[in-house]
Amino acid sequence: MAVRERLLLALTHNYNKLNHMSSVFNDESLHIGIDDTDSPFGKCTTHLAFKITEYVLERTGADFIDYPLLIRLNPNIPWKTRGNGAVCLRIKSDPQDQQRITEFVKNYVESNSATGSGANPGVVFFRGRQLPDALVEFSKRAMFDVISKQDAIKLAAKSGVEYFTLGNGRGLVGALAAIGCLLDGDHTFEAIAYRRPENCGTERMINVNKVIELSKKTFPYTFNNYDFDNRRVLIAPHGVDPVFCGIRGENADIVASSLRSLEIQEKAEGCMVYRSNQGTNMHLQNELKLSEPKSFASGYLRCKVSVNPSKVQGGHAFFAVENDHGQSFPAAVYEPTGLTNVASLLVQGDTIELGGGVRKPSSKHPKILNVEYLLVLELVNVVGIHNPLCKTCSKRMKSEGKGKGFQCKHCKSREPPTVQKEIVNVPRKILPGLYIPTPKAHRHLTKPLHRYGLEKKYLARNCKSFPTVLF
Ligand code: ATP
Repeated sequence: MAVRERLLLALTHNYNKLNHMSSVFNDESLHIGIDDTDSPFGKCTTHLAFKITEYVLERTGADFIDYPLLIRLNPNIPWKTRGNGAVCLRIKSDPQDQQRITEFVKNYVESNSATGSGANPGVVFFRGRQLPDALVEFSKRAMFDVISKQDAIKLAAKSGVEYFTLGNGRGLVGALAAIGCLLDGDHTFEAIAYRRPENCGTERMINVNKVIELSKKTFPYTFNNYDFDNRRVLIAPHGVDPVFCGIRGENADIVASSLRSLEIQEKAEGCMVYRSNQGTNMHLQNELKLSEPKSFASGYLRCKVSVNPSKVQGGHAFFAVENDHGQSFPAAVYEPTGLTNVASLLVQGDTIELGGGVRKPSSKHPKILNVEYLLVLELVNVVGIHNPLCKTCSKRMKSEGKGKGFQCKHCKSREPPTVQKEIVNVPRKILPGLYIPTPKAHRHLTKPLHRYGLEKKYLARNCKSFPTVLF
């Protein structure tokens, strides 16, 4: 068996009893946040978290008080490497172990980040039972807004957060946002398998039939494993990073057992289960203000279509919307989302909700909303005006010119110009409802259609233990 499994139960908390994450924090709690350690040329922040978790479990007496968290932040930030992910580890230990762990984290990040090729790491440590409200608020903002490093430094100082940065230190924003994210509302899980260094950069050999089988067997409790429409495996990245593959789902047990069922042939370095905001639409909970739409902001907009959609070369659809105050804004639906056909059926006056991100203006384009979902709320009646029907042969008559009446092309009957044209309702080819992109175009945070209604209101209620690291 390729994935050697040694189940380390880092925690034996009964999650059923937990309503709020903060109820398990105490004076021995240490919250570690890490971000921006990777670059397009290699490394991975979750892999770093995996190695640190391994160290904590094997070399110290510390306990985990939550799963390692994989937190995706505003996906419309332009300086992200891939999915704007940051990690948080929450542990409990005596001061000596805390000291050893913080030293290890600093050294490990320093020697294992892609600094020099684009990474700007940020590492934060917060000790104590009460996460400051300002930190939680900061984290909420980081899901949809753009936050400066200066704001992050001020917050760290005000909240008693110890931090350490490398490069330009921009990773501080994500590291703070990760520890401020309690994730005690909706959340999902992901089991990630990591590659050994010698295999990184080689092709990932995945048995497609096993992926299809596990998708069918575990749906809806795992998701986005396979895109059946486009026949595409979705669980593996394509880059040189150490992630072999990841299985996402609703609880830790199902993602771990699904990963095992793949029987990966490559000898993995290990696997880890994360709790995450992936698949929750957490970045789209904020209402965008048309009066001051900020470049790179994410959110949603209730509006009416003000300019009918038109398709341009490449298959993208562009239209405009306006709010109740008559403020209008352009919107774009891009071809890879698979939403352009449906968006093209909208007409002026339709009431819709759009989720998405504001693209910054360029010399050629104004600011525009890049649409990530379309919720059709109310459709207007569309009418067509037709020439009258011929009274003799019931065929549609032809106009003879302005003010000249009508003639039937078949039987040559005539009607005077006083005959009324007919007003006919044109059936709409779109129904009210939610339209989201095709799975291959999902962002990490995109909530898949089937998760609507499955959202968790509390911590994972059906999970009795933390299978944190599988070797
Ligand atoms: P991966 O998904 O592979 O871990 P990444 O896409 O997360 O990579 P990073 O290398 O972490 O990319 O870069 C994202 C950068 O953006 C980090 O420096 C992070 O601190 C910063 N950042 C994240 N969210 C925000 C935000 N809302 N405002 C400003 N900066 C942000």
